[in-house]
Amino acid sequence: MPANDVTFNLMQANGARRGAIVTGSTSGIGLAIASLLAKSGANVVLNGFGDAAQIEDIRAGLQRDSGARVLYHGADMSKPDQVRDLAATAMREFGTLDILVNNAGIQNVSPIEDFPDEKWDAIIAISLSSAFHLTKAAFPGMKARKWGRIVNIASAHGLVASPFKSAYVAAKHGTLGFSKTIALEGAEFGITSNSICPGYVRTPLVEKQIPDTAKARGMTEEQVIRDVLLHAQPTKKFVTVEEVAALATYLCTDMAASITGTALSIDGGWTAA
Ligand code: NAD
Repeated sequence: MPANDVTFNLMQANGARRGAIVTGSTSGIGLAIASLLAKSGANVVLNGFGDAAQIEDIRAGLQRDSGARVLYHGADMSKPDQVRDLAATAMREFGTLDILVNNAGIQNVSPIEDFPDEKWDAIIAISLSSAFHLTKAAFPGMKARKWGRIVNIASAHGLVASPFKSAYVAAKHGTLGFSKTIALEGAEFGITSNSICPGYVRTPLVEKQIPDTAKARGMTEEQVIRDVLLHAQPTKKFVTVEEVAALATYLCTDMAASITGTALSIDGGWTAA
C-alpha cells in the first residue's frame, strides 16, 4: 500500500473529533501531516504563508475529502501574540485543542562570520520559541482533559550538526530539549511530547537551500544534491512527506500513549553513521 493511503483512527470512543493545530502547514511536511490528521478524524487548523486563493483551495479540498472541519489561521509564528491567537481560535472553534504539531520552520545557510543577525533571530523565533508559546497556551486545557499530543518537527540537525547552519542546528537541538521537558511535565496528565528528526525531505525548504549551499561550498547544484544532501543518507533517497506524516499521526493515537520524551529519527540511516 502506498504510504499516502495509510490512515489512523483519531476519533474518540464517543465519536467526538480531536482538535489539532499544525503550524507551517501550507506546504511540505506540515501540509502532509495536516492532511493525514484530518483524514484520520481530527479537526485541523492550517497555518502558514502563501497565496490566499491557493490556501483556500487546500483548506476547502481537505475539508471536503476528510469530513473533518479544516480552518486556516495566518499567524506569523515569530509573533507571540499571533501564536496565542492561533491557539485561542482552535479552542473557540473546535471546543478542544488536543494535538499540536510544531512544524513551522525556515532555514538560512551561511558561514558564521556572514550569518545575518536577523536570520538568527527569525530562525530561533519560528522554529523554537513558537513551540514554547503554543504549548504554553494549549497545556492547561490538555491537563484538564488529561489527554494531549505534542509533536515537534525537529530534524536530523537536532542530533548532529552541519557547517553553515548555526541557527537551524541550535534551534533544532533546542527543540529536543524543550520537547523532553514538556514530556516530563505532561507525563501524569496523559500528555505526550516527542520530537521527529527527519533527514532530507525534498520540500520547498530544501529546494531553496540548494543554490546557497552550492555557493557556500563552491559546488554545482547537482553536486550539492549528490555529495552533500544525499551523501548524508545511506539510503541515497529523500525521505517523503507521507512517511513523516504517518509517523507524526501515529504519535497522536492512543496506541502511542507510552511514547514520550523521545526523538524519533526518520533519516534513511543518516545519524547511524
Ligand atoms: P516548507 O518550506 O515546505 O514549509 C514550511 C512551512 O512553514 C510553510 O507552510 C511556511 O509558510 C511556514 N512558515 C514559514 N515561516 C513561517 C512563519 N513565520 N509563521 C508561520 N508559518 C511559517 O518546509 P518543510 O521542509 O516542510 O519544513 C517543515 C519543518 O520540517 C521545518 O521545521 C523544517 O525545519 C523541518 N525539517 C525539514 C526537512 C527537509 O528536508 N525538508 C528535514 C528536517 C526537518
